[in-house]
Amino acid sequence: MTKTDLVEFAMSYLQRHKIIKFDPTVAVKFAKMNGFFGWYDFNKNEILLNEGESDLDMVTTLVHELKHSEQIFQGLMKYLPGNKVMWRGKKFDDNVDSAYEDYEKLPWEIEARKVERYGAEILRAWQKKL
Ligand SMILES: [Zn+2]
Repeated sequence: MTKTDLVEFAMSYLQRHKIIKFDPTVAVKFAKMNGFFGWYDFNKNEILLNEGESDLDMVTTLVHELKHSEQIFQGLMKYLPGNKVMWRGKKFDDNVDSAYEDYEKLPWEIEARKVERYGAEILRAWQKKL
């Protein structure tokens, strides 16, 4: 069983249990990353995961990034020119370069962190299956 199998299992688990309604065309890829668990590239509709992480961190990151895919897919979140973000009809500064504490307070990040707990649930279901 590979990391790709686990990614596929996690994505079908989230769909089957209607936890996240992410864009079904989203691509998931692995890369070597320094200091990142992963991210969602909305331009390419692609999630990049750090291949060096544990299964738990990897699935948790995948769930988090799929939530961002859902936010954009459902039109709740939209990137605007000049590093602005439209979120549920309100304009925000996209604080990617600001302090991590501020970044964590952005509403779409709060929402994405709330679903991270499904990472452990999915991994348990996966290990049972093996
Ligand atoms: Zn995030």
